[in-house]
Amino acid sequence: MKPREAFISALFRRPVPRPATGSATSVVTVDLMEKVGVFFPQAHQDAELMAALAAAGHSELGFDNVMPLFSVWHESAALGCRVDWGEVDRMPDCREPLCRMGDPIRVPPDLLGRPGCKVPLDALALLRERFGDEVAVVGKVFGPWTLGYHVFGVQEFLINTLLEPDAVRRAMEALKEVTVQFANAQIDAGADALCLADHATRDLCSPAAYREFLQDIHRELVDRIRCPLILHICGDTSDRIPYIRETGLPCFHFDSKVPAPTARVLAGERLSLMGGTSNLDVIRRGTHEQIVRDVREKLAAGVDIIGPECAVPLDAPCANMKLLADAARAHG
Ligand SMILES: [Zn+2]
Repeated sequence: MKPREAFISALFRRPVPRPATGSATSVVTVDLMEKVGVFFPQAHQDAELMAALAAAGHSELGFDNVMPLFSVWHESAALGCRVDWGEVDRMPDCREPLCRMGDPIRVPPDLLGRPGCKVPLDALALLRERFGDEVAVVGKVFGPWTLGYHVFGVQEFLINTLLEPDAVRRAMEALKEVTVQFANAQIDAGADALCLADHATRDLCSPAAYREFLQDIHRELVDRIRCPLILHICGDTSDRIPYIRETGLPCFHFDSKVPAPTARVLAGERLSLMGGTSNLDVIRRGTHEQIVRDVREKLAAGVDIIGPECAVPLDAPCANMKLLADAARAHG
């Protein structure tokens, strides 16, 4: 079975001849950039460089998928956020909100043609061309909760979920259209599946707020985006996995703060699980034995796609990800 087929089968919990591996979030480290000879921040802003660095997720690390959107800011930059694209060892960031809650959200008519969107769309097309049907090409979009943090600032957005919930709902309705537009363009460019990252983390969003503001939107995104979605939420999500499993999303990319056996019980039999391997304890400083043990534990718990829990820290040794992928494949 080709890596692409193994990845997509595992995404739907269909039988695979050996465990699938991969990540919905960035696997780039400084030492991986050195191997490829392509570096941040240029790799965020040039499609050829972005595709070359993303390809290393398969060619150097051995994962079944590649994913070129390393940062969280692409569509927000296209919306007008003034993004600082960072350094070789620092991820992009933006500290200036674009507007205040209650201001109308204007989605530029040329959103997809602006560099923030155009560069990753072109990179996805290059990856599809390079890998054909051999390797899964995964894109990434942000849901309206995360886009709300980006456009309004985290504090302004969260305080208004309490003070002006209707204004927050209107803003999310508008931002949701950005998610759908960018998602369907990524599919047209060649993506097999998409990471839907929406940072409704426990410390910033109660389970009641997830149900109130997000559950229906996530259901709607499943209907309107024409490919399998992998929901990514960091942190301890155990109190909302039961709601996530009701949305119809096929896969949840989970954080090691939820023990894998707990995640499997909460996810039920249908929702597939990706990740859950600790970036700090296993990817960054795990020994060979710890990495092999982690893979064994994840597989025993019923994790479907073995990989890191979230974007890998830039200072982690990329050799540990290769060990992880090799250890998973050895279970075939
Ligand atoms: Zn995360």
